[in-house]
Amino acid sequence: MKNKTDWERTVRRLEQLLRLKSFPIAFKMAENRELLDTTPFLRRPEKQQTLCQMLNLVRNFDWTVGAELKDFMFPSCPSIIGLDKVPETHMDGTFRSIVWVATKADGRRFERSIPRLPTGKYEAVLMAPLVYNPFEPDIVLIYCNPAQIMLLINSLQFSDYQVMEFSCVGESSCSDSIVRCYNTGKPCVGIPCYGERRYGHAQDDEMVMALPAAMVVKALDGMEALYRRGVRYPISFAGAEADPLDQFPVPYKSLDTMMARLKEHGSPILLGVTGGIGSGKTTVANLLKEKGVPIVDFDLLAREVVEPGTKGFDDIVDYFGTQVVADDGTLDRKRLSKIVFGDMEKRKKLESFTHPPIYEAFFAQVNAISKERPDGVIQVVIPLLVELNLQYLFDRLMVVHVPRETQIRRLAERDSITDEEAALILKSQIPIDEKLKFADFVVDNSSTLDKTREQVEGVWNALNKVNVVKEPINS
Ligand code: ATP
Repeated sequence: MKNKTDWERTVRRLEQLLRLKSFPIAFKMAENRELLDTTPFLRRPEKQQTLCQMLNLVRNFDWTVGAELKDFMFPSCPSIIGLDKVPETHMDGTFRSIVWVATKADGRRFERSIPRLPTGKYEAVLMAPLVYNPFEPDIVLIYCNPAQIMLLINSLQFSDYQVMEFSCVGESSCSDSIVRCYNTGKPCVGIPCYGERRYGHAQDDEMVMALPAAMVVKALDGMEALYRRGVRYPISFAGAEADPLDQFPVPYKSLDTMMARLKEHGSPILLGVTGGIGSGKTTVANLLKEKGVPIVDFDLLAREVVEPGTKGFDDIVDYFGTQVVADDGTLDRKRLSKIVFGDMEKRKKLESFTHPPIYEAFFAQVNAISKERPDGVIQVVIPLLVELNLQYLFDRLMVVHVPRETQIRRLAERDSITDEEAALILKSQIPIDEKLKFADFVVDNSSTLDKTREQVEGVWNALNKVNVVKEPINS
């Protein structure tokens, strides 16, 4: 049977980004025990065991393990995952009062606080390293240290932000992770309990996150987006004695100043326009311009700030030498691109010369326009807006989208290059589909210009209803 998700690819990427020490676990509750007999490579415990021992065999021994009630040595585990009812000696508080709490009354409270799966619904439990696509799991368990758990939380919160709430019942902590995840449908973090450390061999620094299988890709997407923003594991230290401001992303330091400069003359609505290379940003921006929306074009600014006589030009020639000056005395941009292509150090240097004057020119143009029309819409076309992570500068974001194949065809036609060359150029950008999640407006430019024009009309109508001052975030 072919599983829906390509778990192998997903897990490999996850392992690479999170540098996990043990295998992520595919976890499934089966309503029919027959799955125990039909799942490939599945091993049954030879002796009766605890649930956390089985989890250990999966994540550290690389085994696929399945069990039904008779495989458990102790009623606690199966009663938590619904394979058995809770024994009376547990419900009346006796069991927990033997070691973990002072009185039977405490024991009763303890037992009743434990989240459980409904008794009788399931006949078996299956666990396997997720990477093998063993079966379509209900949930996935990831064991890692607190720093990795935090990064997982950050990743899941990247889109559709939500505060995460977790619980800790004390012993039987598998209920905090596994069962709460089933019952809430949300990611749940657990601190492995004494029992899981003693019998399941969870290490001192390990925690666990249980997440619905469908959310693993969301976590991975968030992690990849954070990676591009420089948030990575292991977390690099900035230095206890250093000035933290020096280590902050540039906009953190000057966010208020930057925003104030953009709104020096009233409150223009800044519409960021982006998409993929050749997806039709210019075409769409020009259609919106027909409605009277002025354009600030970063491509043009990028050219202006390196014209002969500018500081940008001088800085670049000082650093890269006259090899980057063309015969007519202008900058040889093709030569420069070749030099920095694939050389991160040189690319960063080049950006340090060009980005500050581009931002200055951007502020100046926005101010010049808003001086005339303080509250109008200004569209700012930036091909690499998402790659440069500039979303925060804009009130709204418009992504001009075409399928990748159309992008390649149009690019090849327009620039008289082969499809293969066009595909190679596309590789250096974030795939256009990934940019959609940042969009307030998506213009599908894959059909005729008339169809595109209709959508631009819709965007224009929506923009007319935007009131940035009154609706700063959620409109
Ligand atoms: P770049 O990323 O290179 O700046 P762009 O995103 O601004 O490109 P355009 O230059 O607007 O894209 O469009 C790319 C090519 O596709 C152009 O040749 C343009 O004429 C053509 N094009 C744009 N929209 C359409 C459309 N709806 N139908 C057919 N061709 C189109």
